Amino acid sequence: MMPATPRSPEISVSDLLLYISCPRRVYFVSRGFELFPEINASRLERMLLKELSLNYPEIVSKCSLNADTLCKELEVALNQAYEDLPLMFPGDFTRIEGGALEEGSARARAKIPEIVANLLRGLEEYGKDTMLAALTPVKTEPFLSSEKLNLKGVPSKIVCFEDTNVPSILKPGNCPVQGVWASDRMHAASLALLLEAESGKEVPFAFVEYVSFGLLRKVVIRSSDRREVLKICRRVEKIKAGLMPEKTEEKFCTQCTFSEHCVSNSSLMSKFF
Ligand code: SF4
Repeated sequence: MMPATPRSPEISVSDLLLYISCPRRVYFVSRGFELFPEINASRLERMLLKELSLNYPEIVSKCSLNADTLCKELEVALNQAYEDLPLMFPGDFTRIEGGALEEGSARARAKIPEIVANLLRGLEEYGKDTMLAALTPVKTEPFLSSEKLNLKGVPSKIVCFEDTNVPSILKPGNCPVQGVWASDRMHAASLALLLEAESGKEVPFAFVEYVSFGLLRKVVIRSSDRREVLKICRRVEKIKAGLMPEKTEEKFCTQCTFSEHCVSNSSLMSKFF
């Protein structure tokens, strides 16, 4: 008998994140609608800061760190990222809003002093070796997948911390006063589940890097996080199979790319009947 061909996972971690922002967005994206029609200043700022953060390990490993040298190193790295991004994402950079390049890079540059202050504080509090262990990738953007979970995803990094390989994700948005946002916890937990499926070893924690602030947070993966991820996976499966979720989310509606297509279920029904 021929061995069964492995099933390619249908759900990606980005679907789960989309679901957390609004279940209906999963529906639209799975039907070919574009989530980001073009690069605007805020998206460019986020892309630049993510790229910049990949340089933290190299910059932090340099011996003579003070605010001035750190600031200069980060500015050089940001300029480099500004030049490299269009080469790395050529498709995205064909559609860019007028003025987005200047405004996005100015916004990213304005974040450098706070990043410097927080990196220095982290180095003082935890020590260089600990910081470097948490920041330095043993793998960058590895593809992880699990047939059993019907899930695939790409963590920004895998780092080796306290002899354990764990995922680390780069987040360019706001940073909570303590810990991590609930959606980032789900993001980290989904990647921990994937890494466990690949390695066969428990992944008890993960890192979230709030790259606009130079802050690193460790997040312990709880059973309740795993349960929630599995629940969301099942809901996403149903949406991708054709279920249109109720329109419940209001918070993101005003800035949502799909707002003109997105009407309440009852209005949708009245269009057809
Ligand atoms: S318009 Fe609102 S409900 Fe519709 S997909 Fe966007 S965020 Fe969700």
